[in-house]
Amino acid sequence: MIINMKTPLVEIDGDEMTRVLWNVIKEKLLLPFVDLKVEYYDLGLTNRDNTNDEVTVKSAQAILKYGVGVKCATITANTARQKEYNLKHLHPSPNATIRAILDGTVFRKPITVNRIKPSINTWKAPIVIGRHAYGDVYKAAEMEIEGAGRVELVYTKQDGTERRLTVADFKGPGIVQGMHNLDDSIRSFARACFIYALTEKLPIWFATKDTISKIYDGRFKTIFNEIYETEYKEKLAQAGLEYFYTLIDDAVARVVKGEGGFLWACKNYDGDVQSDMIASAAGSLAMMTSVLVSPNGVFEYEAAHGTVQQHYYRWQKGEKTSTNPAALIFAWSGALAKRAELDNLDDLADFAKRLEAALLDTIENGIMTGDLAKLSDPPPEKILNSWDFIDAIAERL
Ligand code: NAP
Ligand code: MG
Repeated sequence: MIINMKTPLVEIDGDEMTRVLWNVIKEKLLLPFVDLKVEYYDLGLTNRDNTNDEVTVKSAQAILKYGVGVKCATITANTARQKEYNLKHLHPSPNATIRAILDGTVFRKPITVNRIKPSINTWKAPIVIGRHAYGDVYKAAEMEIEGAGRVELVYTKQDGTERRLTVADFKGPGIVQGMHNLDDSIRSFARACFIYALTEKLPIWFATKDTISKIYDGRFKTIFNEIYETEYKEKLAQAGLEYFYTLIDDAVARVVKGEGGFLWACKNYDGDVQSDMIASAAGSLAMMTSVLVSPNGVFEYEAAHGTVQQHYYRWQKGEKTSTNPAALIFAWSGALAKRAELDNLDDLADFAKRLEAALLDTIENGIMTGDLAKLSDPPPEKILNSWDFIDAIAERL
């Protein structure tokens, strides 16, 4: 019996090897079981260029309208890609465009299997990173300072009055950077983290360097604490979950000595750096899921990895690559499960669970792609190409 859906899922197609696998996943693992209801947006680089990137904006607006999206990896164009694809324009990263519209926080969680042991042997449960996706060094203004002189921060208010602060009196050449964040964005970040912690039943940690950065990082700490005290303290207590604040260096030390099993809310840069640490210590980038949670209650699911460009070139030459589809499959299962939850569809929720179980069971039985084979303990029974691997999952499903 085929499973029905109520509300369409926003399907966002992408580029290169992940686009190739996207179709195989749909054909073998989804369409035989689910009457997929989707609103489709093609964010392949050529179509983004042809539509002047309007398709990216429309896809984000569709997620706001319907509530749940699932996205394939996409190329962020640079000058090399401009030549390769003969592009008219160099548009910003689609993820940045979508994030700006959804005002989101990105949560990254490793997919764990028994055969792949984390390199940190005290970890018993995955650590989820919640990364603030706005501002700081990612939206900074930078300047080279040629020689001696004063650098100041100047704030010109709307009434024209000014406030000034000396950054440094330069005696010789150097560099300077100005960065910012917004109270509203920090509040959204805090709310998204508390909501995620409650939904996933995880304790939540947050850390900054507020001893050194008393105003900037201090504001992050204050806002997080305010949101906790006024909106989530009781709910977390009822769920038996703790909110823990500490300094970033203390947090890093505790993460490495600890047992895992919590949400680690990170400022933008900390999240960038620590999510790669968590991913590689947990196993492989191909096993990292990613979901964008917006404070107005919409969700976008994707794989944390990129388009796996080098595999794509080999596929174009006729090779059946052993690219790992795990995170792409989890993007679909995550999105379908969320759709099921919002629409009260028990059989769809059940299907999403079975899909994940079939994938994990295949790997636990020693059947896997090349990237995992190198990490598997005990060693793999069979190393398959992506197509045969997906067939093996379909068989179990
Ligand atoms: P990548 O696509 O993540 O691949 C980097 C390397 O990681 C690959 O060469 C491969 O290693 C390994 N890898 C990643 N995913 C894998 C998988 N599923 N199975 C097996 N191995 C996997 O990153 P990139 O090469 O830096 O970027 C390629 C393109 O993706 C760029 O155009 C970039 O803009 C885009 N990108 C998009 C997103 C997104 O849409 N979310 C994120 C990041 C990058 P081996 O070659 O050693 O096998
Ligand atoms: Mg990074």
